[in-house]
Amino acid sequence: MNNNLLLEISEKFGTPTYVYSAEKIQDQYQKLYNSFQPLNVKLHYALKALNNSNILKLLKHEGAGLDAVSLEEIHLGLRAGFTPDKIMYTPNCVAFDEIKEAVKLGVFINLDNLTMLEKFGQEYGHSVGCCIRINPHIMAGGNANISVGHIDSKFGISIHQVRHIERIVDNYNMKVIGLHMHTGSDILDADVFLRGADLLYDIASLFPNLEFMDFGSGFKVPYKEGDMHTDMAKIGKKITESFVKFCQSYGRELELWFEPGKYIVSEAGKLLVKTNVVKQTTSTVFVGVNSGQNHLLRPVLYNAYHRIENISNLDGEQKLYSIVGNICESDTLGYDRFLSEVKEGDILSIANAGAYGFSMSNQYNARLRPAEVLIYQNKAHLIRKREELEDIFRNEVQLELFTKEVEIE
Ligand SMILES: *Cc1c(COP(=O)(O)O)cnc(C)c1O
Repeated sequence: MNNNLLLEISEKFGTPTYVYSAEKIQDQYQKLYNSFQPLNVKLHYALKALNNSNILKLLKHEGAGLDAVSLEEIHLGLRAGFTPDKIMYTPNCVAFDEIKEAVKLGVFINLDNLTMLEKFGQEYGHSVGCCIRINPHIMAGGNANISVGHIDSKFGISIHQVRHIERIVDNYNMKVIGLHMHTGSDILDADVFLRGADLLYDIASLFPNLEFMDFGSGFKVPYKEGDMHTDMAKIGKKITESFVKFCQSYGRELELWFEPGKYIVSEAGKLLVKTNVVKQTTSTVFVGVNSGQNHLLRPVLYNAYHRIENISNLDGEQKLYSIVGNICESDTLGYDRFLSEVKEGDILSIANAGAYGFSMSNQYNARLRPAEVLIYQNKAHLIRKREELEDIFRNEVQLELFTKEVEIE
C-alpha cells in the first residue's frame, strides 16, 4: 500500500482505522484458485476473518463462495448477494434448531458431531444432503489454539468413529454429499495436508453420494520478516495430482473445496494508529498508541507477531520500542521492535491486520471500534464508520428502579 495514501487516509478518516487493499485480496484469491487448475475447485471464503459486506461483494465478484460458522454469518452472506448454494455452514457446538434454520435457508450443512448427525438423519433422512466434518487428528503447526485437528480438539468427528458414522448414515438412509476436514491454520507443508487428505480418500468409498471433498484451510501467510508462507504452486500441484488420482478410484469427478480466510485477507489489511505518548521507563521506551487489544486482539490472544512501521518517519533513525495500546491491560502490540524514531502524533501502521482484526474487535474499556476503509484502484472508500458513543449503550435497558431519589430517614 502506498505510504502517502495511508497518511492521507489517517488525516481524512482519523485513526485508528483498518485499511484494506482490494487488489491484494483479488490477487490472493486468484493465486489460490489458479494453484488447483484444472480441477473443479471451489473456494469458500471463511468470512469470520473479515466480514464487511463490501469485502464479501468483492470476493463474490471474483467467484468465491462463503464458509459461515454461524447463522448470523449466513445472513451476512445472503445480504451481500450470495445465493444459498454458494454458502457452506460449518458450525461447532450449536443447537439443532440452528441447523434446521440453516437447512431452511438452503445452504450446505457440515455436521461436526455424532449427536447432530443422528438428529439430522431423523429429521431429514435422504431428503437433505449433508457434509460430515472428520477430525483426522493431524497436528498442523505448533499452536494448539489454532490447530484444530489434533486429538484433544473439540472440532469434527474423529476418524476413529467412522464405523459409528456409517451406522447412523445407513440407519437413516442419509445422503452424505461431502467430506470435510479443517486441520488448523499453520500448514506449511503439502505432506501434512496430504496425510489428512489420504485419510478422507480412504473412507470415501463408504459414501457413494459424494459430490465434493472440502479440505478446509490452513494456508499460511508470512507475518514476520523471513516467515515461511505456503508455497501455493507447489502444494497446489501435489494436491491436484492426489485428487485426480482419488477421483479415478472413486469412479467420479468430485469438486474440490477449500475455505481460506487468512490467506485471502490477512496481508491485504493494515491497522493505522496514532502515537499518543512516547514514554521512557526504567527498562524500555513505550510507544503508547490510540488503539490496543480491543481493536487487534491477536497479539495478546495468540502471541501473534504483527509487523509495525512508523509511516510518518520512514527514513528516521532506528530505535528500539515496545508498542502498547491505551487499554487498562498489558496490551502489548509489539515487544522490542526497531522503528524509525517515533514522535508523539506519528502514525504507525500494523501489518497483517486484514484477518481476525476488525472481526475480533470489541468495546472493552467502553472504547469505540475503528473505521474501515477499502482502497480500490488507488482510491480510498469508507466502508464502515467509526463507532460513536451511542453504539456503546445502544442495547442497554434503563430500569426505573434506581432513578428515583431515595429518601433517607
Ligand atoms: C476459521 C476457519 C477457516 C479459515 O481459517 P484460516 O486460517 O483463516 O484460513 C476455515 N474453515 C473453518 C471451518 C474455520 O473454522
